[in-house]
Amino acid sequence: MSWTDLARNGRILVVDDAMENIQILHHALREEHEVLFALDGEQALQIARDQQPDLILLDAVMPGMDGYAVVAALRGSPRLQDIPVIFVTALSRPEDETRALEAGAVDFISKPFNVAVVRARVRSQLTIKRQADAMRELSMTDGLTGVANRRNFNDTVDAEWRRCARAGLPLSVIMIDIDHFKLYNDHYGHQAGDGCLQDVSAAMKRCATRPQDMLARYGGEEFILLLPQEGADGTEVVANRILDEVRKLALPHAASVTAPHVTLSMGLATVMPQDSSDPHALIRTADANLYRAKQTGRNRYCISLDS
Ligand code: GH3
Ligand code: MG
Ligand code: MG
Repeated sequence: MSWTDLARNGRILVVDDAMENIQILHHALREEHEVLFALDGEQALQIARDQQPDLILLDAVMPGMDGYAVVAALRGSPRLQDIPVIFVTALSRPEDETRALEAGAVDFISKPFNVAVVRARVRSQLTIKRQADAMRELSMTDGLTGVANRRNFNDTVDAEWRRCARAGLPLSVIMIDIDHFKLYNDHYGHQAGDGCLQDVSAAMKRCATRPQDMLARYGGEEFILLLPQEGADGTEVVANRILDEVRKLALPHAASVTAPHVTLSMGLATVMPQDSSDPHALIRTADANLYRAKQTGRNRYCISLDS
């Protein structure tokens, strides 16, 4: 994506208690961007939550919740804290500007403003935002397969653990390891091995498609599937689907002693999370069950007898 692409087609939320100010900014930005608007602070937060704008242009002085309070609320919300805010305000003293920047605004424009300057500053903040988004995405993704990486999994499992504990819902994981993958590499070469990891991970991804499900690459040829709100029965359904999908891939594996095609083994584990504990034991159980699946013939899954 080019620099200009990064700077265009943003979704911009304009917040001002005066409709005429909103109209001027709408007019200035509508050719390049989608423009949303709000007439007060509460409405701004509601629209930010519902529409996830890329950038907010915020008036400082408004009746009720003022601009500073809006920024504070945005910064306090995990889902909204990364949305950049530019103050656009009739206030113009250095201390007003300092206060806005210290509150968490990324830029400050005094009224009356020059339309070309506003456009340029909006573009520049959008570029920064999109570069930051791309970096964050890269830092959470496995480069080879495009699925979540282990760090992303670790963060997510902690959050889902707490969420399921609060809601009194189960949480399950499936630990997955490709069978005889060293032999695959030895026979077909490392590049073919990489291709196999990509194909198998894509197939597994098709097996768990609810928004909260997460497939992650846990190590070399080891993956973990996080299934929040899923009990033991549902997890077995998913595991059977994975066995089916990988069988349907029918990737030849001439060196395997288990089957003439690529297979995998899985360990399942389900728990009712408690606030007082963490996911470590659950993952250890899944790992132990994976080990049993390997020991008892591979190309299968094992579940805990006591779960
Ligand atoms: P098992 O059935 O017991 O799981 O045997 P295995 O050979 O699959 O297990 P082992 O842990 O002995 O070997 C894993 C192999 O996975 C060795 C390593 O070279 C390969 N591997 C790990 N990461 C990658 C990768 O990113 N690309 C490729 N091509 N191979 C990888
Ligand atoms: Mg293996
Ligand atoms: Mg392994």
